[in-house]
Amino acid sequence: MNTTQRWVVHLDMDAFYASVEQLTRPTLAGRPVLVGGASGRGVVAGASYESRVYGARSAMPMQQAVRLCRGRAVVVTPRFAVYSAVSTQVFDLLGREGDTIEQLSVDEGFVEPESLVGRSSAEVRQWARDLQTLVDDEVGLPCSIGVASTKLDAKMASDLAKPHGVTVVDRARRLEVFAPRPVGELWGIGPVAQNKLAEVGVTTIGAFVEMDDVDVKGLLGSVGLQVQAFARGQDSRPVAPRARAKQVSAEHTLDKDAATTVDVDPVLVRAATAARRRLLGDGRAARTVTVKTRTADFKAHTRSTTLATPTDDLDEIIAAARSVVPRPEVSGAVRLVGVSLSGLTEERQAVLFPEPGLSDGQSVEVPGPVHAPEHAPEPEAAAVESPEGPPRASWRPTVDVHHADYGHGWVQGTGAGVVSVRFETRSTGPGKARSLDVDDPDLSPADPLDSLR
Ligand SMILES: [Mg+2]
Repeated sequence: MNTTQRWVVHLDMDAFYASVEQLTRPTLAGRPVLVGGASGRGVVAGASYESRVYGARSAMPMQQAVRLCRGRAVVVTPRFAVYSAVSTQVFDLLGREGDTIEQLSVDEGFVEPESLVGRSSAEVRQWARDLQTLVDDEVGLPCSIGVASTKLDAKMASDLAKPHGVTVVDRARRLEVFAPRPVGELWGIGPVAQNKLAEVGVTTIGAFVEMDDVDVKGLLGSVGLQVQAFARGQDSRPVAPRARAKQVSAEHTLDKDAATTVDVDPVLVRAATAARRRLLGDGRAARTVTVKTRTADFKAHTRSTTLATPTDDLDEIIAAARSVVPRPEVSGAVRLVGVSLSGLTEERQAVLFPEPGLSDGQSVEVPGPVHAPEHAPEPEAAAVESPEGPPRASWRPTVDVHHADYGHGWVQGTGAGVVSVRFETRSTGPGKARSLDVDDPDLSPADPLDSLR
């Protein structure tokens, strides 16, 4: 056996989407920020640490997260173009410092630098701290870094380091660190496996690694045995660049075969929502939506549609899926529904333009002045729409704008013919909010990437 200690590094950005928003819109720093779809009925794509204090989490229904934050949350429409640009910066830096990268998603990846082979854990810790400082300085965002002797251990170590920490777990100490942790923290142990293990009294990683192989195989199959081997530290998987996924998908089996389109719909929405969550993790947009059903006779039925522009919007994805779902009235009763998203691309349709008359019904909590007590209190344009109906031109909340006199900013709210804009970018510090006429000729839509300046 090779006794030279391997050092695998897992870097994971902290609350990535929300942190990018706080970086490029300094007024949001220190506030509970929820990144999510404009429809208000989607799920949270990103939650800042300040919102997590209230119990808000990624993948939680947006309305629930907003309620938990008790009116303090700032809901921001995702700006994936900005997250992509920052992600590129992070991985360029990581590649420079750590050689070969295995990127897992838009904000996390492994490296296994040659220079660390055989080093002491103290030396490795210093290397990781230096890397973290580089990310702080060059990217301007917090990350957590886990370093350990295998990929599984490194990934778990970075979780232990959150937020903004470095955790090094050497091989001799690995069980001491991981044994008391919940078994669900293992990569590959999902909620179903977790429940099965809980039924036999196994709730910790320590108890799981001590289980008899035969019991593990009986309970979780050969995949379970594989996970157990990894959990025992038998994980020699190399860090290797991976081709980016060609598609993301999710499928659900119905409790009871569905004979009508109406009965299929909730499961279709669930599968579409899960597939789209994976799309958000990937950081790209999809052009093609495919729905697969399996009927009671085990036949597969597949139909797809291609959109005019790539999207990551949940409502658009659901609408596309509904337009092609094979109807059980024609195909026969359905037992499984899957949605896959393909034609993945970095480009997406930027929602740059104010859409007259468009009411998305989303209210935005407007942050008050943060570091400007010397200014008189600003009018809190909290409502999005005036009570009389939609304003003449509706600047969607949180969209990027440019003003000839005040520079780059973002819309905090609109109502009664007035649009409230916070003028700030990454380099300005917290900016001043100004109330402008919705028809101000000097106000125009702007490229979200300008907020990184
Ligand atoms: Mg992360």
